[in-house]
Amino acid sequence: MPAAARRVGVLAVQGDVEAHARALARVGAEAFRVRREKDLDGLDALVLPGGESTTIAKGVARLGLTEPLREFARAGRPVLGTCAGAILLAREVENQPVPTLGLLDVVAVRNAYGTQVDSFAAQVDAGAAPGLDGLRCVFIRAPQLRRPGDEVEVLARVDGRPVLVRQGNIFAATFHPELGEDPRVHRLVL
Ligand code: GLN
Repeated sequence: MPAAARRVGVLAVQGDVEAHARALARVGAEAFRVRREKDLDGLDALVLPGGESTTIAKGVARLGLTEPLREFARAGRPVLGTCAGAILLAREVENQPVPTLGLLDVVAVRNAYGTQVDSFAAQVDAGAAPGLDGLRCVFIRAPQLRRPGDEVEVLARVDGRPVLVRQGNIFAATFHPELGEDPRVHRLVL
């Protein structure tokens, strides 16, 4: 993993691409929109943004990006998926068929907080990974990540449920670290 990733791709199919680009700028990285395989050349890391996972998954397939994205991740470069991006990384989606990249050993449950609490903000539970204390998380029709495999490390929880996990170079957040001013998640990944 590079000590400081400078050139970071943001999958630009649908979703909050621009907010991630701004968040990356805040941690001194340069964001590049990824829409074709060629766009991955020379990147140090990659972000899969939030949005609508079904739409993003269709776009990934249509653009022929499924295997290139898998190869990018398997080469060991950091990949961060947020919200819908986290769903795309999962090995499986429990409640709706979304073709995923299968890079993270968790089962994603879409819209797992139901319609009553479409969106909310909450602080991570005590005992988060070093440097993440007090992190405030914004959830928007958020998924949950269940049944993490042995290689998955839970870096932060809210109400006891994993909200930020890591499996080697793969990171997934069920919330939106690109919203607000806290740069810690982007910094951690890079
Ligand atoms: N509910 C969306 C989905 O299932 C994810 C929401 C988001 O990315 N903010 O794809």
